[in-house]
Amino acid sequence: MTFKGLYNVFLVVASFSSVHAATVNTPKVIERDVIIIGGGAAGSHAAFRLQQDYNKSIVLIEKESILGGHVDTYLDTSTTPPTPREYGVQVYFPYLDGLDFISRFNLTLLPGLGPRGSTTTRNIDFSTGLELPANYTGPDPSSITSAIIRFHDLLVSQGWDKMTEPGFWNLPPGPQIPEDLLLPIGEFAKKWNVTEALPRMYESTGGGPASRHRNFTDTLTLTFLQSFSPAWMKVLYGEVGMYHIQGGNQLLYEAIHARLGAAENVLLNSLVSSVRRPADNADDKRDIQVTITTRVSPLSRKPTTTTTTIIRARNLLLAIPPTHENLAPFDLDSLESNLFRRAKYGRYGTAIVSSPILPRGYELHNTPILAAIDPINKPFINEPHVLEFASYGNDSDLFSIGTSGSGLGYGEFDEREAIKVAQESLERMVDAGTVKVPDGNLKKGGGDQKLKVEEYSDHGPGGFGVSAEEMKGGWMEKMYGLQGRRGTWYTGNAIAIDFSTQLWKMNDEVLRRMLESW
Ligand SMILES: Cc1cc2nc3c(=O)[nH]c(=O)nc-3n(C[C@H](O)[C@H](O)[C@H](O)COP(=O)(O)OP(=O)(O)OC[C@H]3O[C@@H](n4cnc5c(N)ncnc54)[C@H](O)[C@@H]3O)c2cc1C
Repeated sequence: MTFKGLYNVFLVVASFSSVHAATVNTPKVIERDVIIIGGGAAGSHAAFRLQQDYNKSIVLIEKESILGGHVDTYLDTSTTPPTPREYGVQVYFPYLDGLDFISRFNLTLLPGLGPRGSTTTRNIDFSTGLELPANYTGPDPSSITSAIIRFHDLLVSQGWDKMTEPGFWNLPPGPQIPEDLLLPIGEFAKKWNVTEALPRMYESTGGGPASRHRNFTDTLTLTFLQSFSPAWMKVLYGEVGMYHIQGGNQLLYEAIHARLGAAENVLLNSLVSSVRRPADNADDKRDIQVTITTRVSPLSRKPTTTTTTIIRARNLLLAIPPTHENLAPFDLDSLESNLFRRAKYGRYGTAIVSSPILPRGYELHNTPILAAIDPINKPFINEPHVLEFASYGNDSDLFSIGTSGSGLGYGEFDEREAIKVAQESLERMVDAGTVKVPDGNLKKGGGDQKLKVEEYSDHGPGGFGVSAEEMKGGWMEKMYGLQGRRGTWYTGNAIAIDFSTQLWKMNDEVLRRMLESW
């Protein structure tokens, strides 16, 4: 049973336009101070603070059936009571006073990762299915830790932490951005003698945020720092702790949802169908109108029914990735569309899977054979891949997997493709005899070899960003220059550091500026 399953009474699709839909209401019209689009970490936090701390009326629009974005808590009912298995956001860590946000709810933070039994790692090259030689030990942990500390201290001593955390407010104008931050991370690491830090940092997010590149080390340093921030480095080398929420990280977003109150304050299963925003030179910059389509029909009823809501507001806060698809209904002017269309992004995903042949108590880790020769420079996987099949321990049949469409375009690495890559990896391990199959069950890809996908979560778009040349041309500065223009504000991981507590501090600054301009 899953949190998503529990709440997913209605079918959710990324776009309602392709569905045969019937609208059942005459549009309801509501008025709010702020419309927030996207109910992930950034949007949910902003909605809560605007309503509870600043006494503003809000409506939060979310396309899925629950709030929380990248949080994925799966309730493992094979144990009594059910155990929450995290396979999206794992932990929260202190950044300034960001963690205090969680203490506003009746929730308990526990140290470390959520419930997961101990596992033994087996290093296997998934491209061949062969296990690495028994004497493979991987990079030396103490040299990794000292490299991460050096990396962190370098960023602080150069003032590069202040230019990037929690958002890019203090990044110098394009031509003055330090050249080092515009190097590919591989070159940056060599130049500053921190290459040994990269494998551990890659591991910590499976290289997912770098998914638009075939080679992880090609990621622009500035983009890399969004997913491997100085604050996160402190967690990796152990100066700062990390915590999960007892009962599951999803509980935070349920608590936020409950506190936001009336149903009309949170519209789930909803997409923006059209937007009218004032022109940049309009006298009244606060005359915003957003039309929302909400899918309301249960799965069993056909045709699908939708309702329409028209919302009038003073401000619009976008907490969704500003991709072309997401922004299509937003009445973009040429300045906006010129900026947004330059960004590129890839895709990655996570899932909970099971198969009787996957060995409980083990993490089958995808380690390229070249890592046996050069564990510092060669542990990265430069093709669409699954990084691991990680058991939740001896008491569970479940395994988490992380997938990345390295180098593929966003549309080329959907759930089907990701699971295909996982299935083929497993079959290669069976063929190579690395994963054993009971006698009489040798049908390739069938029977016990067939992965059962309990739940899949799409975490794209990943690695949203532009080239070094675009950055030098002032892309980020211009993006931040859009804040407040046409009554529209921006937050979220595409334009800030990609960790929950850091996004909440990014929000504090966005909201401060929004309220100042009220
Ligand atoms: C697998 C994974 C593990 C992670 N682990 C951690 C961790 O352990 N600790 C940590 O601090 N951070 C972690 N992160 C990073 C963390 O997820 C981000 O910092 C944070 O979730 C990003 O929040 P956001 O609100 O910017 O984006 P999202 O969480 O992506 O939220 C965007 C929301 O907008 C919705 N949406 C998108 N398009 C539309 C649309 N057109 N209309 C309406 N709604 C829309 C989405 O459904 C989503 O709910 C992890 C990320 C991933 C992918």
